[in-house]
Amino acid sequence: MLEFRKKVVSTSLLDPREDFRHKTIETEIRYDPLTGETGRLAHFGMIKPQKEDFSAWDTPESHSLCPFCPENIEKVTPKYPSDLLPEGRLRKGQTTILPNISPYDQFSALAVMSTAHVVPLEKMTTALLKNAFGAGLEFLHRIFDLESAPPYQLIIWNYMPPSGGGLVHPHLQIISSSFQGNLFRKTLSKSKDYYRQFGQNFWQDLCATEKKQGERFAGRVGTGYWLTPFVPLGVLGEFMVVFPEIRTVFDLDDKTLDDLVEGMKRLFAYFQSVGIASYNMGLFFAPAGEAENYFSLHARFIPRTFLNLEQKPPDTNALQVVLHEPFTVIRPETQCAELKNFIGVSPKA
Ligand SMILES: [Zn+2]
Repeated sequence: MLEFRKKVVSTSLLDPREDFRHKTIETEIRYDPLTGETGRLAHFGMIKPQKEDFSAWDTPESHSLCPFCPENIEKVTPKYPSDLLPEGRLRKGQTTILPNISPYDQFSALAVMSTAHVVPLEKMTTALLKNAFGAGLEFLHRIFDLESAPPYQLIIWNYMPPSGGGLVHPHLQIISSSFQGNLFRKTLSKSKDYYRQFGQNFWQDLCATEKKQGERFAGRVGTGYWLTPFVPLGVLGEFMVVFPEIRTVFDLDDKTLDDLVEGMKRLFAYFQSVGIASYNMGLFFAPAGEAENYFSLHARFIPRTFLNLEQKPPDTNALQVVLHEPFTVIRPETQCAELKNFIGVSPKA
């Protein structure tokens, strides 16, 4: 049922780096086992993560210009009207949930995660992550209680400027919508097709198959299965955690949240070891209220980098933007072997 399909194409050229000797260079085209969409593995090892000095942004001047820093947040960020959220803003630990003043959708909130302006990965503590995602969940629960609640929920995160994040002060985007976005819509619809065709949940099958095959299964943290997807979405690969038995925002209980956060901390320890300092993240929930068990809670983490720190070119180009075709410079199987050394080890704090 689950198929990992790929094709290899090769280019012949006379290589100037080797006295114009004949050379064959391979590109691997892979098909996503759920959506059937292609991605390619190419340029192996030619792009490395670039790490900036974050402390350069942690200055009193940057704080004074940042809407999320404690001296500004009360004055310059919006509140929800009382019919949506009587408190105006939600708080949990250091996290504040507030409406995005530039919304992407009808319910488009931000979770400002910390009072600190710059939080490098080594300072993403368990408490900070748990409060931020916990507050996001609480907001989604509250919105779902409204009569006109949209059916789809997701939490997304642009961490640090290479990911497209405009503000370095860490913040999640909490979205409740009737419009899933193309990838989420396709993932939901293909998961439903799979369930109806085979009578099985694709995500449960994926976890079982990857665990058995082993080359893209890094390990379990609690109930979460950590994988490197067969077709990664980022130039520097992709990491995924699937909770096969958890579906909606209402199933994500405290224990699952602990497992998610603990796994993230182990992933971040791996990121630090290889110099990854920026990523996009998405946490996808099954729509609440649907009876069919066709979709499991999962999160994607896609590392991002500038190609160099002089001109700061982004790591997306026409291939991704014009063709919607991901390409990756590292094999998921190689990345998984590296991640295995971290996913079984609990970092401090
Ligand atoms: Zn700030």
